[in-house]
Amino acid sequence: MRIWLATILLLCTCFATAETVKLTDFRVWTAPERTRLVFDLSKTIQHKIFSLPSPNRLVIDLQKTHLKKKVPTVGRNEQLIKKIRHGVRKNHGLRVVLDLSQKVKVQSFLLKPNKQYGHRLVVDIRPTTKVKPVKVVAKTGTIKRSKDIIVAIDAGHGGEDPGAIGKKGTQEKKVTLAIAKKLKQLIDRERGMKAVLVREGDYFIELRERMSIARQKSADLFISIHADAFRKSSVHGSSVYILSQKGASSEAAKWLAERENSADLVGGVKLSKKDDMLAKILMDLSQTATNEISRDVAKKVLKGLKVVGKVHKPQVQHARFQVLKSPDIPSLLVETAFITNKSDERKLNSTRHQLKIAKAVFSGVKSYFYQNPPMGTVMADIRKHTVTSGDTLGSIANQYDVRIASIRRVNRLKGDRILVGKRLLIPTGS
Ligand SMILES: [Zn+2]
Repeated sequence: MRIWLATILLLCTCFATAETVKLTDFRVWTAPERTRLVFDLSKTIQHKIFSLPSPNRLVIDLQKTHLKKKVPTVGRNEQLIKKIRHGVRKNHGLRVVLDLSQKVKVQSFLLKPNKQYGHRLVVDIRPTTKVKPVKVVAKTGTIKRSKDIIVAIDAGHGGEDPGAIGKKGTQEKKVTLAIAKKLKQLIDRERGMKAVLVREGDYFIELRERMSIARQKSADLFISIHADAFRKSSVHGSSVYILSQKGASSEAAKWLAERENSADLVGGVKLSKKDDMLAKILMDLSQTATNEISRDVAKKVLKGLKVVGKVHKPQVQHARFQVLKSPDIPSLLVETAFITNKSDERKLNSTRHQLKIAKAVFSGVKSYFYQNPPMGTVMADIRKHTVTSGDTLGSIANQYDVRIASIRRVNRLKGDRILVGKRLLIPTGS
């Protein structure tokens, strides 16, 4: 009898839940220029979204939905949403109201379950008015200044995508951002170099968008930071990847196919259909140069990482990672360690070790650019020379085509004595 009763009760609850959708979690991800709301649902739903003016509000009606979790509050960085409220609409479901700071554009879509999540409703809001960038007008007659070398640092994953997860629960997206921020600090401190973070907080950016952010910032180099995962937990150490030849040529074909994109690559000149040959030649040239730089920087970064700890693969690896496919920006991907390895996971969580990794990557990048400064950059103006035995001030001056007096002046040297191993600054064009 008791068993029967239990079965009937169980059936009843099943019927009840079949009718309604459970909202089990609700997250807000704030990115620059976009806020993403994600609703975790027990099954797919019908929803309606509309805006209301004065004051600006956005209403999200989720049909036949029950709230199972508290509605989140918005973070300090959130610019678009002032407050999130909710109410239950009798026989209709749940109404979520966003109090907004301005008018917004809305986009929403449903996602089917995957490995990590069940059914999700994603609502993206963006401001309708874009902040106009201040135009800098160059005065006529001013001297053209040398520019900084710009390094775009891309912290892998973010937002809804935690990346790999360690045994202790360490999320790749957090570790990569922490290392990226440390690397940025080191780069920004170096004269002639500047870093930009592709992802600044905990939100997701599509892979192609990451590439385009780097291009918008006129990056000279793109570094994607990750932490590997493997089913065998014994595997550990770091690796450095660049784009494989196959990946490069398939991407070139794609860019050529999209006329709009290929125009970017040949200095903004739009090529007509007739110029197929020319476009291909220019594309090949650009890509060969890009690949060579990627490989050389990657080698130096790997050398730096070998000093910090064990590397998983002693050579630079080649793979078809989407994020490395910019034909015009040298790109590399650093798998800092294996998050699935116990000791690596512990290290990845340590601020000291994060800094060690950042320093290793930085030393590789710095050493590459000191040896190969791009034309027109500050770095090209501040060359350095390490004194080796047999060097004299005269021979160094000859080598760089500068006056001995200038070398003495910038290095504050009194006499002619220079010690082996000393690093001298080499002034330009004196
Ligand atoms: Zn990753």
